[in-house]
Amino acid sequence: MDQLSVRYEQIEQRIGQACQAAGRGREEVTLLAVSKTRSAREIAALHRLGVADFGENYLQEALAKIHQLADLPLCWHFIGPLQSNKTREVACQFDWVHSVDRLKLARRLSEQRPADQPPLNLCIQVNIDAEPQKAGALPDQVASLAAAIVKLSRLRLRGLMAIPRADSDDQNRAAFRRLAMTLSQLRNTIPALDTLSMGMSDDFAVAIDEGATIIRLGTALFGPRP
Ligand SMILES: *Cc1c(COP(=O)(O)O)cnc(C)c1O
Repeated sequence: MDQLSVRYEQIEQRIGQACQAAGRGREEVTLLAVSKTRSAREIAALHRLGVADFGENYLQEALAKIHQLADLPLCWHFIGPLQSNKTREVACQFDWVHSVDRLKLARRLSEQRPADQPPLNLCIQVNIDAEPQKAGALPDQVASLAAAIVKLSRLRLRGLMAIPRADSDDQNRAAFRRLAMTLSQLRNTIPALDTLSMGMSDDFAVAIDEGATIIRLGTALFGPRP
């Protein structure tokens, strides 16, 4: 078996074990393959193994691969830093955006989402450890931002995304738990929210234990980035 298949099988096994340990079904957690720096060939190979969701950080790189792989039924997630002059391409070419942290971006995405496509799925990125200089809405801004975003007709607000500071497993767990609490509070007013995008290669088992519904794995699936 080639290396990608081996890694994928190992990861699937670990995801299954983490779900079982958390008392959750495997189908409650979506594996999002983070394919930044990876070739269209690698993405197609992973798709053949059964992965449907791919995450990209850099728009130009992503657009080239989306174009090359247009014949495959892939679900594309934009997870990188988003600038307002880049929203149009994201609104047209992606199915999800995980990295919205201000209303201006959401407004533009809603205005620019083509009418013949379903509403764009969206997560609010939360700066869960309130780190200076880091992307994401501050935890105390999330409720008002969510209330404004749900009014935008071409978007479908799904939930929250975070990248914790990653100092230690315990601190990550605490951060994931705060994100899950924030989502659960939001659901009092917006019950349709169903997504917690959290957990990466080094901490996805903890994230699954704390309720992640999308885990974003790059290195663990593809190996170290070139
Ligand atoms: C790169 C990246 C990942 C994947 O990181 P790995 O440690 O390689 O799994 C996940 N989420 C975001 C937002 C990223 O930029």
